[in-house]
Amino acid sequence: SKQPAINFGAGPGKIPNEVLRAAQEEFLSYQNMGFSVTELSHRSQAYAEINGNAESNLRKLLNVPVNYNILFVHGGGQGLFSAVAMNLLKPTGTADYAVAGIWSHIAATEAKKYGTINYVFPKPSSSGIIPDEASWSLNPDASYVYYCDNETIQGIEYPFVPDTKGVPLVVDMSSSIMTKKIDVSRFGVIIAAVQKNLGTAGLGIVIIREDLLGRAMDICPSILNFELLSNYASILNTPPVFAVYLFGKVLEWVKSHGGLEAMEEQSKRKSELLYTTIDGSSGFYQNSVPVRNRSKTNVPIRIKNGDEGLEEEFLREAEEKGMYQLKGHSLVGGIRVSLYNAVSYEDLLILIDFM
Ligand code: PMP
Repeated sequence: SKQPAINFGAGPGKIPNEVLRAAQEEFLSYQNMGFSVTELSHRSQAYAEINGNAESNLRKLLNVPVNYNILFVHGGGQGLFSAVAMNLLKPTGTADYAVAGIWSHIAATEAKKYGTINYVFPKPSSSGIIPDEASWSLNPDASYVYYCDNETIQGIEYPFVPDTKGVPLVVDMSSSIMTKKIDVSRFGVIIAAVQKNLGTAGLGIVIIREDLLGRAMDICPSILNFELLSNYASILNTPPVFAVYLFGKVLEWVKSHGGLEAMEEQSKRKSELLYTTIDGSSGFYQNSVPVRNRSKTNVPIRIKNGDEGLEEEFLREAEEKGMYQLKGHSLVGGIRVSLYNAVSYEDLLILIDFM
């Protein structure tokens, strides 16, 4: 019989087993009510608790200051690309985008529908480069500056938080949230889809500084309007109840496993081991991202300069040994190893042994 599956997928990614088991146990009868959480009214006291606990746990874990609101929004990551533009572009009609990979590119392309977008640096000539901050051309009149902290497809992570000289900074942390400490006060808005480190797809989270509320364009749909969502504690219409519930369970899991500090330490340990293995393979395995920009959560790997035959063999044999979802994104090919919080050091050791 097969070994238990290890899920190295980039998203939807691995959810801790304890969380899945706990959800399974109470699925048919949530809190002995005789029906499931996914049949629960979003206007009930029980849901108000799920919503409120998830919010306050996120606030504690990420040390979110009191002048920031936390919102739960439909539409995942890309829904928030549009929401950011429609909620924040209005003051000057223009925004700065740092585009170092696919996800920031998609966000910028979406934002162009609503205003003028300035690219703060030209398209990097080789993959994995984040141009030095000193070379960025920031527009002092921009309504905000946007970047993606961790480019899930290329495996690029910012080793710094950009200094925007007072212009509100917006960051997409979909694939890096809850893997490292962050100073929330550096940001105007933090957005993230939750299906990588924090649960199941469909839910997006927003952490927004209060003074940035109330700037939405008239055309902004109500369900994406950050001020309205704030006023309704994110229960404006029927929220993705099950996704918020599971998100809350993952936050409890993070809390009981040492919190953000432990997640950060594990993330460093896992990624260091994997990159050391790649770099020590005499060129058999390759990761071309410059060391300082390497992602700790998503690690793209090519075998022998992109030998597709060998890469297929690698993926096939990995599956035979119970390791799944290792195929690289179709835009970059090869292999991609995602090391989200639920992937343990021991899980990784099995892959390293195989490599
Ligand atoms: N941003 C990043 C960094 C992502 O990795 C993804 C999804 N892979 C998204 C945004 C888009 O999320 P969604 O599929 O929920 O729209």
